[in-house]
Amino acid sequence: MHNKSLPELSTALQNGEISSVELTQHYLDRINQHNGNLNAFISVTDERALEQARAADKLLAANNAGPLTGIPLAHKDIFCTKGVRTSCGSKMLDKFISPYDATVVEKIDAAGMVTLGKTNMDEFAMGSSNETSFYGPVKNPWDTDRVPGGSSGGSASAMAARLAPIATGTDTGGSIRQPASLCNLTGLKPTYGRISRYGMIAFASSLDQAGPMANSAEDAAWLMNVMSGFDPRDSTSVDREVPDYTATLNDSLEGLTIGLPKEYFGEGLDSRVAETVQNAIKTYESLGATLKEITLPNSHLAVPTYYVVAPAECSSNLSRMDGVRFGHRADDPKDLMDLYTRSRGEGFGDEVKRRIMIGTYALSAGYYDAYYLKAQQCRRLIRDDFLKAYEDVDVIMGPSAPTPAFRFGEKTDDPVAMYMEDIYTINVNLAGLPGMSIPAGFVDDMPVGLQIIGNYFNEARLLNIAHKYQQETDWHRHTPEAFK
Ligand code: GLN
Repeated sequence: MHNKSLPELSTALQNGEISSVELTQHYLDRINQHNGNLNAFISVTDERALEQARAADKLLAANNAGPLTGIPLAHKDIFCTKGVRTSCGSKMLDKFISPYDATVVEKIDAAGMVTLGKTNMDEFAMGSSNETSFYGPVKNPWDTDRVPGGSSGGSASAMAARLAPIATGTDTGGSIRQPASLCNLTGLKPTYGRISRYGMIAFASSLDQAGPMANSAEDAAWLMNVMSGFDPRDSTSVDREVPDYTATLNDSLEGLTIGLPKEYFGEGLDSRVAETVQNAIKTYESLGATLKEITLPNSHLAVPTYYVVAPAECSSNLSRMDGVRFGHRADDPKDLMDLYTRSRGEGFGDEVKRRIMIGTYALSAGYYDAYYLKAQQCRRLIRDDFLKAYEDVDVIMGPSAPTPAFRFGEKTDDPVAMYMEDIYTINVNLAGLPGMSIPAGFVDDMPVGLQIIGNYFNEARLLNIAHKYQQETDWHRHTPEAFK
């Protein structure tokens, strides 16, 4: 049951072969069996899930169900869920019960889906390995001595172990694509503005975007149909028609021009990952695509630019966690300053504190022009590189991450080594473009992802390009032995 696609589950539910309660219980049992080991979920909302499943079964019985009615799902714990703890992986919000639903949650509930629980994540989505969570590290089901990637590592681990048929994630600098790559999943970071950020706890507001983490492009398309769209409550969401992402999955790739940035295949890339990605790209040639070498000459600026912009924005966003308006409150403060400093000192972990300090410094009066303004100028150059490339090519391909999953502790003492995990994903966020990671093979039995980057609002084409590959190959169907 847990290896079925969303369309297959949908048909089984509509035909009465299984009820939503049975399906939900099946996943809750799997979570119960494996979560102690993987630590993929921070909260399992079993009672609520079964309640939602019973409601879905009523709709199904009355022939009043939509395509996703009754299908379970896991939410990254960054999405506000009414009446449920929404921790964002932080001690700061350990006791925060959200009084409202994020738009993404609202839309998914309205589609009749069943929320199994909230998945673990790096604290406030800062990290590439899921080792910064207050709730402890998450394991990679492909090898439990290794990280699942981050920051949506809980969703990735849960999906790879088949503890949920689909999950949500968010991607500020790579947090959907990099864990998807490390856990053999199909992950899509849509164009900035495609999906509402309302109720999604902000890390870096100009970069954050939600998206699906799925077993296939087809499943991702199904969830995109529900997640996408304008939201008057988010002024950065874009008022633009939402296509049916499932309608064009089978379009021909004849005549597609794929750009291969030379900067994506150079120093820092594991040679076996490079070979795996090159092989995947060859499959596209056999599907009628042509390849073209391109250059994104400002790619080397992406990581340093991001580590000014993202900390600057997070230092502002996280200022509301002060023990008064939001978040953990220190006991017996002696005065207001003591309340602020101890609440924040106790509530935030090391990586979050590091970013707040960098961001506060970069935004301070004397340094604003030298750092923040400069970073915004670099950001424009990075975007312009892509726009120039898209004059000649339809999409861009390369690796999603420079290496397969690494071991726990391998990069924790060297923040810069950790930051380099996102060298191929970060510039996509800086430019606001859509990007995907899809399973492309294995190196030493660990998954490797192919990244596909599109032009603005080309999600339907990306899903089509990914789907065609998944019709030709079965990498995305591989599951870790212990979780079959
Ligand atoms: N790994 C990057 C960071 O630590 C990106 C995280 C994300 O996309 N949320 O900031």
